[in-house]
Amino acid sequence: MNMQANNGNLQRLDQSHHLHPFTDFRDYAQHGGRIFSRAEHIYIYDSNGHKMLDGMSGLWCCNLGYSQQSIVDAVTEQMQQLPYYNNFFQCSNQPAIELAKALVDVTEDRFNHVFFTNSGSEANDTNLRLVSRYYQLQGRPEKKHIISRKNAYHGSTIAAASLGGMSGMHEQTNGLDYIHHIEQPHWFEVGPDEDPDAFGLRVARQLEDKIDELGESNVAAFIAEPVQGAGGVIIPPDSYWPEVQRICDERDILLIADEVICGFGRTGQWFGSQTYGIKPDLMTFAKAVTNGYQPLGGVMVSDKITDVLLNHGGEFSHGLTYSGHPAATAAGLATLKILRESNIIANAADNVAPHFQARLKELEAHPIVGQVRGRGMFAAVELVSDKTSREKLAPESAGAVFCRNTANNLGLMVRQTGNAMIMAPPLICNTGEIDALVDMLSQALDATAKHYG
Ligand code: PLP
Repeated sequence: MNMQANNGNLQRLDQSHHLHPFTDFRDYAQHGGRIFSRAEHIYIYDSNGHKMLDGMSGLWCCNLGYSQQSIVDAVTEQMQQLPYYNNFFQCSNQPAIELAKALVDVTEDRFNHVFFTNSGSEANDTNLRLVSRYYQLQGRPEKKHIISRKNAYHGSTIAAASLGGMSGMHEQTNGLDYIHHIEQPHWFEVGPDEDPDAFGLRVARQLEDKIDELGESNVAAFIAEPVQGAGGVIIPPDSYWPEVQRICDERDILLIADEVICGFGRTGQWFGSQTYGIKPDLMTFAKAVTNGYQPLGGVMVSDKITDVLLNHGGEFSHGLTYSGHPAATAAGLATLKILRESNIIANAADNVAPHFQARLKELEAHPIVGQVRGRGMFAAVELVSDKTSREKLAPESAGAVFCRNTANNLGLMVRQTGNAMIMAPPLICNTGEIDALVDMLSQALDATAKHYG
């Protein structure tokens, strides 16, 4: 299809009939957006032929970029062999079985079982079903309250949106009343006048306070991302996770690590839980498990939970038509094969990420940059109008939106969250490509400073 010739028509159809996620429908119907038609390596091309370096790995999922032929081949072969069959009612399929084993292998000794879903949102719903069944079976149904964090993103189903802590989503959601939110470990936003480690301990201890407030016998679990991604790549102070782990251990609270963004190499190790020494009882994954090539998510379930569910559970009344879909799990298997047989994660951690973080850190000298924070292969650049007072650059995040749009037009796909510019480039980037990313961002910052500074 000649995309460029067809572009005007596609734009019109898109604006007329397609409701986009996290989009102002009216604004989109009036102004439209960018239609992507092709991708290669770390570059995406829109239907006008505009080439962009994808500084976001799609939506934090294409960690290996867009030219992984072995994943395409695996999915194609699987579609020819067995395009679909379900895993209900004592049925299974080969790629789902093999991916379950591969996931157990890469999560080391921590997990022996996986439950597949199609997305991270459904995986977090599954977490709630598993947790509630786990306590019910032990005769403790009142242990049902879940603690999460403000500004967290855990997905968009009702349960996942309730777990999330984004005020805009809560305003539009009749959320679950047994989910509670404590402060996020966002030092720059919440506690910049405190010593970072003291701040980390203080916000971690809000978990203990919340447990006391609700009653330990009523609290089931705490859920968090190792590094809060969509909230703004919020890097916790070093003191934070050990204290959270201590509290969960001592207070008989299950710990759920949402690794939907952090998993599969983003933080420098396979999982953010390894990077931060977290020992989760349940672990949510999605996105990069298939390199974004197929929709797939799931939950890694520890023996602590399966010991109860397997031995005393009877039927677990939960499942999705496409749980363990053969084509999606074939994509997952091919993705894990690349990750296990290459040195992509180690190379990104040892060679690319230090360069990425160092080059971005230089931007802290820029007049409108208040903080650069990051870990491994993701980072945030916080925009301010005054470095000392940390006043935000412009009302309603307008400065950051301007900066993002400028970067997009220059050929860099980055994301804006609040007043921060967010980046999560593919792990396969080399240092020259990282330089190109930082240079385009830097030009966008200059233009933004001129406009808003
Ligand atoms: N959890 C986290 C940490 C996420 O970042 C996301 C999506 O961005 C989700 C869950 C939801 O995943 P999905 O969009 O696949 O439902």
